[in-house]
Amino acid sequence: MECLHGLPASAVSTKNGKFWLCNRNKPKSCEFFCPDQDRSLFETAMAMWRANGPIHPVCDTHQRLARMKVVKDVSKLNFGRPFFVCCDRENPCKFWQWADRHELPKPKCRHGLNACVRKVKKEGENQGRLFFCCPNEREKSCGFFEWKLDLENPFNQVHFPHVERVGILQSNPALYTYMVAETGLTFTSARENPHDAYAEYIGELPIFSPTGDMEQLSLIDY
Ligand SMILES: [Zn+2]
Ligand SMILES: [Zn+2]
Ligand SMILES: [Zn+2]
Repeated sequence: MECLHGLPASAVSTKNGKFWLCNRNKPKSCEFFCPDQDRSLFETAMAMWRANGPIHPVCDTHQRLARMKVVKDVSKLNFGRPFFVCCDRENPCKFWQWADRHELPKPKCRHGLNACVRKVKKEGENQGRLFFCCPNEREKSCGFFEWKLDLENPFNQVHFPHVERVGILQSNPALYTYMVAETGLTFTSARENPHDAYAEYIGELPIFSPTGDMEQLSLIDY
């Protein structure tokens, strides 16, 4: 049995039964935890997760790696599907995400924290749209803002080729050079994430300029 690191998990026997755990200690642990009786269920679920990324998300509040779980209720349509939840035992936050659906890695805010996802509540054409912002409370927010691609919405489905960062231009703001591996096409963007840079290139995300996004933030009521 392998943990999310792809390393052999450790078997631990307790009076409550046998469990499989990541053999690395915190903070390097991938939070893998699997009761022995769920072993085959987890192995299938882990393969579903690996086939889609595999991205290990971090919960918004604790900024800690989330714990993978599997839908164990046979009567549920989603039986066997893996999902991630907050790994904190005492005070878990509400973080929840399917693990077998392709989610782009979250961008970092200016504090270097993983941005959290919020929904536009204000009435208007952007109502219901998801965006990334600083996970800190409003007073401590660094003002980071970026629209999130809605991969559930078929109108926003985009085929993402394999995009690699191939260079950086020492301009102000700094621009990264990206190349689409399949076609050799190159383009530049101020975005640090190759997927987001490509989304911007094809017009799915607005052009990011490190100074321009502050104005957009003020339009949003969260
Ligand atoms: Zn691990
Ligand atoms: Zn949490
Ligand atoms: Zn921040």
